[in-house]
Amino acid sequence: MQLVFFGPPGAGKGTQAQKIVAAFGIPQISTGDILRAAVSSGTELGKKAGPLMAAGKLVPDDLVIGIVEQRVAQPDCDKGFLLDGFPRTIPQAEALAVVLGKLNKPIQHVVSLEVPDEVIHERMKGRGRADDSPATVQHRLDEFRRLTAPLKDYYAAKGLLRTVNGVGSLDEIAALIKSAIQR
Ligand code: AMP
Repeated sequence: MQLVFFGPPGAGKGTQAQKIVAAFGIPQISTGDILRAAVSSGTELGKKAGPLMAAGKLVPDDLVIGIVEQRVAQPDCDKGFLLDGFPRTIPQAEALAVVLGKLNKPIQHVVSLEVPDEVIHERMKGRGRADDSPATVQHRLDEFRRLTAPLKDYYAAKGLLRTVNGVGSLDEIAALIKSAIQR
């Protein structure tokens, strides 16, 4: 099963992604986690991505597309995968479709976690990650609205969008996601 998790920063994508991959036995591919690891280990990728991440800006499409292209071709992705935080732009989504088309593993469901702005702001305040300063958080939300939100219409037009209420207990939300992707 090939899944994409979609939603603003702070929507709970990472937490719910962990529950779903555990239930379905597929790997979670988080471009944010891969980029943070590259920053920590000081690779070329990390040197390019680090300052952009710290500012709450998106990393260039070609860099993240390259990461995902390599990752989805690994053997542990044979039975599917869950993409968490990718794609984040229309060009990323288009590149993903090409990559997955070649592998004959199309995206089946795009799960959009719906969380009101006020709730997002409260959650982000409490998170305390290095790229979570108030200015960075604001910038990440702006980037989401400008570049990532249009993906909702893109995937809805393809019949792949599953909207799920992202406010509730972790187990309630996980149950809603499971029913949305098993329909
Ligand atoms: P995340 O953990 O998914 O919120 O990602 C943290 C940061 O990594 C983002 O604010 C971006 O700077 C960068 N990043 C992660 N995924 C992507 C992506 N698909 N496209 C561009 N930048 C990304």
